[in-house]
Amino acid sequence: MKEVKISRRTFLKGTSATVALLSLNSLGFLGGNTIANATEKIFEDWKYAGWENLHREEWTWDKVTYGTHLVDCYPGNCLWRVYSKDGVVFREEQAAKYPVIDPSGPDFNPRGCQKGASYSLQMYNPDRLKYPMKQVGGRGSGKWKRVSWDQCLAEIAEGIVDGLEAQGPESIIFESGPGNGGYVHVMAVHRLMVSLGATVLDLDSTIGDFNRGIYETFGKFMFMDSVDGWYFGKLLLIWHMNPVYTRIPSYHFISEARYNGAEIISIAPDYNPSCMHADEYIPVEMGSDAALGLAVCQVLMNKKWVDYPFVKEQSDLPLLVRKDTDRFLSAADIEKGARDDQFCFWDSKNNKVVKAPLETLKLPCDPALEGVYKATLLDGKTVEVEPVFNKLKALLDSEYTPEQASEMCRTNPDTIRRMAEKCYKASGGIQVMVGWNSPKYYHGDLIERAMCLVLTLTGSLGKKGCGIRGWNESLFEGAFTQIFKQKIGLMNLTRQLPLMRRVWESFKKEDPTISDEMASIKQERVIDRNMVNYTIPAFLYYNHSNYKKAWDNKAWHCPTMKREFKEYYDEAVNSGWWDGYVKPEKDQTPTVYCWMGTNPARKNRGWEKNILGSLWDKYKTIFGFETRWTTTLLYGDYALPCAGFYEKLDTRFPTPHVPWLTLTDEAVKPIGECKTEWEICLMLAKKIEEAAKKRGKTNFVPRTPVQEEYMPFLNQFSVRDAKGNVEISKLHDWQLMGSSGKDFDEIMEDALQSSVMLGNLPPGTNLKYMREHGIVRFVDVSIFDPVTMNLATDIKPDEPIIPLTWHTGEKKVPYPTYNRRIQFYIDHPWFLEAKEELPVHKDNPKIGGNYPLRLTSGHQRWSIHSIWVSNEQLLRTHQGRPFMFMSPEDAEKRGVEDGDLVRVFNDFASFKIHVKVTPAARPEKGAAKPGQVIIYHAWEPFMFPEWKSYDIAIPGMIKWLDLVNNYGHLHYWRWNWCAQPIDRGISVNVEKA
Ligand code: SF4
Repeated sequence: MKEVKISRRTFLKGTSATVALLSLNSLGFLGGNTIANATEKIFEDWKYAGWENLHREEWTWDKVTYGTHLVDCYPGNCLWRVYSKDGVVFREEQAAKYPVIDPSGPDFNPRGCQKGASYSLQMYNPDRLKYPMKQVGGRGSGKWKRVSWDQCLAEIAEGIVDGLEAQGPESIIFESGPGNGGYVHVMAVHRLMVSLGATVLDLDSTIGDFNRGIYETFGKFMFMDSVDGWYFGKLLLIWHMNPVYTRIPSYHFISEARYNGAEIISIAPDYNPSCMHADEYIPVEMGSDAALGLAVCQVLMNKKWVDYPFVKEQSDLPLLVRKDTDRFLSAADIEKGARDDQFCFWDSKNNKVVKAPLETLKLPCDPALEGVYKATLLDGKTVEVEPVFNKLKALLDSEYTPEQASEMCRTNPDTIRRMAEKCYKASGGIQVMVGWNSPKYYHGDLIERAMCLVLTLTGSLGKKGCGIRGWNESLFEGAFTQIFKQKIGLMNLTRQLPLMRRVWESFKKEDPTISDEMASIKQERVIDRNMVNYTIPAFLYYNHSNYKKAWDNKAWHCPTMKREFKEYYDEAVNSGWWDGYVKPEKDQTPTVYCWMGTNPARKNRGWEKNILGSLWDKYKTIFGFETRWTTTLLYGDYALPCAGFYEKLDTRFPTPHVPWLTLTDEAVKPIGECKTEWEICLMLAKKIEEAAKKRGKTNFVPRTPVQEEYMPFLNQFSVRDAKGNVEISKLHDWQLMGSSGKDFDEIMEDALQSSVMLGNLPPGTNLKYMREHGIVRFVDVSIFDPVTMNLATDIKPDEPIIPLTWHTGEKKVPYPTYNRRIQFYIDHPWFLEAKEELPVHKDNPKIGGNYPLRLTSGHQRWSIHSIWVSNEQLLRTHQGRPFMFMSPEDAEKRGVEDGDLVRVFNDFASFKIHVKVTPAARPEKGAAKPGQVIIYHAWEPFMFPEWKSYDIAIPGMIKWLDLVNNYGHLHYWRWNWCAQPIDRGISVNVEKA
């Protein structure tokens, strides 16, 4: 073969493996010899072969494994083939092997996005964390020193034991992210923190993804169809979602739905990228969607375009409300010894009050929806009562006609009527495609309650192609939480379900009318409070940080909050509503902070003003499990470098949206000195034991008492003794979970087997199968896990997951709400005081002050949260720096031009950012109609001048009603009913910098 002369540069371009090797070498990831040997060999091979070998080399590899991305790119779960050579991953490609489920619709293939396609570059990005590090020049100084694992973990362990001794277990604060880092490895860190008795901050209340209004209405929000169900909808209302940006692998189901006759409407304040692909764009004022939704309902009710049988059977609209008290008419009101949480219908045929059954949705009569009636109370007194439907109709007719609503939401009345007619025509087939934008508005619950009302009036729930969605991290949950929360030690004895069953059955015995789902929620509350120390961060923030200053500022709350915020807070705490959850207590100073899979300095609203300088300074030891240099890490004390997504065995957290368990495998060894979280936790557990032993300490006493009746269970859930004390000498053994501690395969195998045993995964699923196939579809839900139970459906092998069928189908299982029906009327005294007993519209409060613009946000297209935001390749696909959208009108008023650097400010803080002028943003129209500026998240604060990101101007208010915790389902449990600092619709102004 003729020798071809070719420059070294061209040669290097030719083989991806070589490029990867060289770039790694230049960044110091590999030893000099490794790179020299590898490149020389390739170079030698090539020299005598010819240019064809460029391509031959490009398509050679040592190994192909399955991989996915362990991030909250919800719903994710895309399966990739990962190609590695000489210990380096050099490319990945979509595996595209999802089987056809429902032949009448499209399949899932291929799944993937540009972030996933560039993860092999991301794992070698210059900001990859490779070694244990200690900050030696003070937090935020940037002066770091490389230390050994031994030193790093020993010092952290000393800090933890200091904290345990000085302030008790609750003073150790753990904050985790939404599954970033892998399902099993996240749980490994959780397990260690729970064992220590640390305060575990609830996930949803730190990320703000709790759909409050859906929860208020259904008693749950973690239900949804699988994304292939979107194809079967008749009318898809994209509402508080931007799927073109955020659902890249699933978006095709939306566009393909048109082939099935669906119509797509996008409802948003700005003409976002999803609007241009819709059949109709309906503009709405920021945060005023409740007015639009309620006006649609007003038209539906007045035209009698209502699915009456559905409304009567499924919702609380026929339940009677007393006109004298505005409370539900209860069975106890009319019958001696009857329950006060059972409510009543008006039997329209026999003209009398009839009790609504508690254990079923089956109707005992034909309940009236309209009219006012008289009911006789136990004391002989007669009171007027009316169905919720009647009250609602009167409210909508008086305040939410299309013309009235148009004043609030700036949507044309004719557009509202047209939308109502489309909803009527699509009855039984409307999908409200809501994301996690609405819950981040102050009155997001009202917005979602209005959406749910549209769906309920049109009977668009529990059928193929319709419904609404929250998020759900479940299906596998049944098995994995059993393992990590309850495993008692021996492998293959993971399944101590009898223990769970005893708690669960005790609730069923106590009240035989409750459903399995309600029992599993109650059981979860027991676990969260007593065994895993979950709590909302509101107490930590209010007692120990500067959030208090913001929350106590009445001017930044809704004017309908009648009393001072502090009064509500005190009432909620002093009434005992949150007993067991207020941790650390007011006089218990936080001492240690640990995070994993999250970036709190980027994410926590107003972090720099609210936490840095107050709560942050109280922590004596701060450490994080990280794969890269985040802003949070830059403010920390110790960096624990973790294996990347192709450097360890794990699964992506599963979800009903994409109901496959998806494996990622160790394609290559972790780079530098990185280790898996599992390994790190084992090592850290040992160090903590040693540090305590040196001080002669064997146990530590938590302040939060365990509920007496659950004390016997406690030592089966954690390293607690019979008195509830943390037995520190057992930490390492507990963390092993009965495994040898040497081979993570054991853990994964056990998890898979447990899931098979619980019936979540099909028989025959094991690690060998997963390594061969990469994915496996779930076959059932677990009755012991409330999150999976919230789906309330049976998974079928040949159709999309359709949630809620246990309620809407033949079973007629009640909903887990206070009144056990789809609940639109909330008669809690605080809701009555706020006039939010029914869904209403309320304007955004002036959070941050009285300014003419409102800051909104959403997920950006080029990164999953901040994980890819510094990726060199992706930075080249956009402006490569933080930017803010602004309307031409508002820009011109301020002399701002495209590309200008501006200062954004309010009464809370200010920051600088570049502007992108676009007519897609809403301009200001007079004092009552603010203009819009949009910053898609999630830029790292260190990308802004002085590290001041847009988050700094967000005070992070919480709505006072979220502090209720004594009303049926308005009662905290993991990820549910958790007050969350909001970040949308913030008042700001802009000036040229
Ligand atoms: Fe899929 Fe998420 Fe990976 Fe993108 S980052 S390919 S959405 S798993």
